[in-house]
Amino acid sequence: MAEKVKTVRGFRDLIGEEARKYRYVVDTARDILERNNFEEIILPTVEYTKLFARSIGEATDIVEKEMFTFQDKGGRDIALRPEGTAGVARAYIENKLYADGTYKKLYYEGSMFRHERPQKGRYREFHQIGAEVLGTSNPLADAEIIKIADDILKALKVDATIEINSLGCKKCRPKYREALLQYLKEHKEELCEDCQRRLERNPLRILDCKVEGCQLIAKNAPKITDYLCEECKTHHQKVKEYLKALGVEFVENPYLVRGLDYYSKTVFECVSEELGKTVIAGGRYDYLVEELGGPPTPALGFAAGVERLMLLVKELPKRPPLVLVIPFGGDREREEALKLAHRLREEGIRTELSYREGKIRKQFEFANKIGADYTIVVGENELKQGLFPLKNLHTREEIKLPFEEIVKVLKTQSG
Ligand SMILES: [Zn+2]
Ligand SMILES: [Zn+2]
Repeated sequence: MAEKVKTVRGFRDLIGEEARKYRYVVDTARDILERNNFEEIILPTVEYTKLFARSIGEATDIVEKEMFTFQDKGGRDIALRPEGTAGVARAYIENKLYADGTYKKLYYEGSMFRHERPQKGRYREFHQIGAEVLGTSNPLADAEIIKIADDILKALKVDATIEINSLGCKKCRPKYREALLQYLKEHKEELCEDCQRRLERNPLRILDCKVEGCQLIAKNAPKITDYLCEECKTHHQKVKEYLKALGVEFVENPYLVRGLDYYSKTVFECVSEELGKTVIAGGRYDYLVEELGGPPTPALGFAAGVERLMLLVKELPKRPPLVLVIPFGGDREREEALKLAHRLREEGIRTELSYREGKIRKQFEFANKIGADYTIVVGENELKQGLFPLKNLHTREEIKLPFEEIVKVLKTQSG
């Protein structure tokens, strides 16, 4: 036998139930976003590396260690996208989506890539569905974006706690950063190596560190919410009021900072206790568009991790019943069965036409193997009489009916 080629390390196939789960998660989120009048944007998978360095931040793990970067044949530095927001912001600017003076609501879905150490449940290609609202600073948008995340979780029957915080703005965050830096410097020796290195460049990130020693120190650190300016405080207050009005449950986490540099004001995460991980996360990024060369554009959004949600989806919606049409006899029966199978599909009935040849017993074995719910045998007698046996494989009941009657019966079953 020839040598087998395998998947690339850190990549995987989604097959059968896994593929259906993937589609279910994405379609559920997409439905909710469409209902909220978001417009789909289909983005390229590759961008110039500098887009991510400038948006996500040079001093982040993603940009420092985890990006799939390479030079194309023209010597351009490009990267497989590690997330979706930077691409949306780039597209917004490049296509002048701000030109009509209104805000834009966009969503995307697709593969993201991060070159992390492969481990159980973590792959180098993963999927996100994300939403972005560009061109508004109205706190109604913050509340609605969190509500959409909540709606997605509820629709998927996934339990997660929504944590929210405000990261302040250009006016108030520097004061907080100063106070935090002061505090962390006093505890420098107790911080992990990564955090000691981060101290001057990105002290906020230390609040995010998973190392126990750092978490202990973070616990007593100054809180950003004590440093917010009037504008940020009012904005944060409004967001919380609107969420309460919508009946969205949330907890405030003053140490929630998010892993990316571009956030300001509202940030939130939906954390699954079962996974011990965040499944949807997002927030405001009021400066990103401007920093990428566009006009000043307050904006916000979220991204949902499809794989993580898939781990939490316990039940998939049932597929409609499957009918197996079995030709029995010769060419004429095969041709009639072919036509009848298509007639069923025209009516929206999930139908398989058996390509198997041989004894009727083998045909019923095949029906069980593919999980058929009904069979219809199309043989010489059936064609002569114009009556076909519709067999329910669960109850073993069989009724003989004219074909159009069978269509009616099955249509009511297929909903
Ligand atoms: Zn502020
Ligand atoms: Zn640390």
